[in-house]
Amino acid sequence: KNPRTIMAAGNWKMNQGVPKQAEKLIGDLQAELKGEENSEVVLGVPFTALAKALDTVAGTDIRIAAQNCHFADKGAYTGEVSPEWLARMGVKYVILGHSERREYFAETDETVNQKIKACRHWGLRPILCCGETLAEREAQQTFTKIGHQIKAALAGVPESDLHFLTVAYEPIWAIGTGKTATDAQAEEVCAFIRDEVAKLYSRETADNLRILYGGSVNAANAAGLFGQKDIDGGLVGGASLKAADFAVIAKSA
Ligand code: PEP
Repeated sequence: KNPRTIMAAGNWKMNQGVPKQAEKLIGDLQAELKGEENSEVVLGVPFTALAKALDTVAGTDIRIAAQNCHFADKGAYTGEVSPEWLARMGVKYVILGHSERREYFAETDETVNQKIKACRHWGLRPILCCGETLAEREAQQTFTKIGHQIKAALAGVPESDLHFLTVAYEPIWAIGTGKTATDAQAEEVCAFIRDEVAKLYSRETADNLRILYGGSVNAANAAGLFGQKDIDGGLVGGASLKAADFAVIAKSA
């Protein structure tokens, strides 16, 4: 299978977390998709609905992601969720370093790095998020910021683990704002990320790395974005809560 098969990854954020709500949204999505998606579909579901989501997609090609995890296997971390538990219950992907977690929950490049390593230890596939603020973009600091985030997140991560990593470029000014990056803006940064990974590892590993764009992806703009040379799909927030829209996105490969 092509490691860069287009991925449509939904990030439900703190929505649809009652198991019945998750079951309903997944059912609606399956009805819209009719098995016709051209892409790999991954759903980032709240912890409370993971078990139900896994049951609901059993036997289909839809994969389930968590939206975060801790880096320790277990211990005195009240309220946290272990990557071991996620792996053992059947979760395949974990979104890490989302800008909302960095901004509101003190996630740092260092904790993201620890979490990537913990996920790989348990066979989970990280979806590593990075992105610049509007102020950073306007100050021409986009590449410096992203380059630093990638390097720090991957410090000490062996090349063999890169095959199981997805990077999501999510400009913070585009998340939940309805202001999508243009195809060219998104492509420019995704190409830069690929080149950074080539410098850190090898051209081959970089060429096989899946890089997503995220930030107000919708049914109307997905095809243009996913058609860019270095964009291998999308991480989708708001539109992933609408079954019909997300199905169009998943078919936009
Ligand atoms: C996200 O949460 O990762 C995201 C991109 O959100 P939205 O699609 O709503 O901008």
